[in-house]
Amino acid sequence: MTERPGRRPESERLQQQMALEVERFTARHPRSRQLHDDASRSLLGGVPMNWMGRWPGPWPVFAASANGAEVIDVDGNHFDDFCLGDTGAMSGHSPAPTVAAITARAASGITTMLPNEDGAWVGAELARRFGLPLWQVAMTATDANRFALRIARAVTGRPKVLVFNWCYHGTVDETFAVLADDGSVVPRPGSLGPQVDVALTTKVVEQNDLAALERALAPGDVACVLAEPALTNIGIVLPDPGFHEGLRSLTRDAGTLLVIDETHTLCAGPGGYTAVHGLEPDLLTVGKPLAGGVPAGAYGMTEAVARAVRQPLSFSSDADVSGIGGTLTGNALTLAAMRATLGEVLTDEAYGRMIPLAERWAAGVAGVIEEHGLGWTVQRLGCRAEYWFCPPPRNGGEAAVAVDHELDAYMHLFALNRGILLTPFHNMALMSPATTAEQVDRHTSVFAEAVATLF
Ligand code: PMP
Repeated sequence: MTERPGRRPESERLQQQMALEVERFTARHPRSRQLHDDASRSLLGGVPMNWMGRWPGPWPVFAASANGAEVIDVDGNHFDDFCLGDTGAMSGHSPAPTVAAITARAASGITTMLPNEDGAWVGAELARRFGLPLWQVAMTATDANRFALRIARAVTGRPKVLVFNWCYHGTVDETFAVLADDGSVVPRPGSLGPQVDVALTTKVVEQNDLAALERALAPGDVACVLAEPALTNIGIVLPDPGFHEGLRSLTRDAGTLLVIDETHTLCAGPGGYTAVHGLEPDLLTVGKPLAGGVPAGAYGMTEAVARAVRQPLSFSSDADVSGIGGTLTGNALTLAAMRATLGEVLTDEAYGRMIPLAERWAAGVAGVIEEHGLGWTVQRLGCRAEYWFCPPPRNGGEAAVAVDHELDAYMHLFALNRGILLTPFHNMALMSPATTAEQVDRHTSVFAEAVATLF
């Protein structure tokens, strides 16, 4: 176990304060409570998708509307939204150009199984941003990753994939694997009904451990490494200097493809971490905010990968049963929303405002931590930032041990009760083009207030 050198409040105090916050929540959310009770008769857990129940508080807040960086709930409470649909709404909620494009497209054919001009624009724009020449659209980031893994196996003729410990790449079976204490590969805790033993499909090493990576690639059975440029789903765990150079050269030497998942690290810039740091993946996957919240994903590939799969994917009479794509994939509504969002919302200019706001958020939180001598830290990657109750972990294993669910829940509920939404997983905040400095400063004050209740 990693020690936790950051200061922690006394358990009794934390529990007492938590009870006060639950009371406050209860008083502020009667209509959400009623809707949740009603919905529980027909929806498992009272929510249409199980994670929607994973908010702090005795029941989830039911949303009435969301615009820009603000959410209003059914009880009339207003929130500064730093969750932004866990990145799905990094564009801000309902950005005007996306709404206009969706509205126009909805009235002129939502899905046709035919290509259109928007698709061609989107392909060219993705190539420009991320530097990979050839693209396919997917429905979600999960889909993009699934399809990238298939392509990697097809191109290399190898069976296995390698992921970093405590990664998350969507509901992709091969990636639901973690390292046990004895170094063996086991199903991720919580993963439901794995269809095969993950040790058969997957190798796992710690991010930043190039020696372990080299050993894992040595037998020559790994089709691809699927990696976020920095882990963002067990909190933000940044790569060590030199890690990406090592990852690229070891994968090249081993004949293993490198798939970079930019779904969350799109926060680093318009072309993700890949463009900022000049990474050279063989395939790149992305999803979430690409279409302003309308389901959309995409994956790009090099000429070499495309050459190897062009025939089976594009020209074979079995292309429709290749295991890639779906009837609604690349539908006209998604493509219109992607074009508007990429072209007019998540622009270079917007990032020029979003990233300084995350710097401001991080500086505000760091100031409070410093003032109270807490030994906590703030991590930031582009327009995403979060705080940890300890020094920054170096890999997923260390990060998983450092998670403090009780303290997380308190900080979240305290913030929520004062009109601030953070991503319910970790203490993560994301800035959109609509986020304002006033919202960031309100978060800093609420964070300071929360800390003052604990120490
Ligand atoms: N990749 C990464 C890095 C993610 O964080 C996620 C979702 N958190 C996904 C892929 C999957 O996205 P989706 O659930 O939208 O398919």
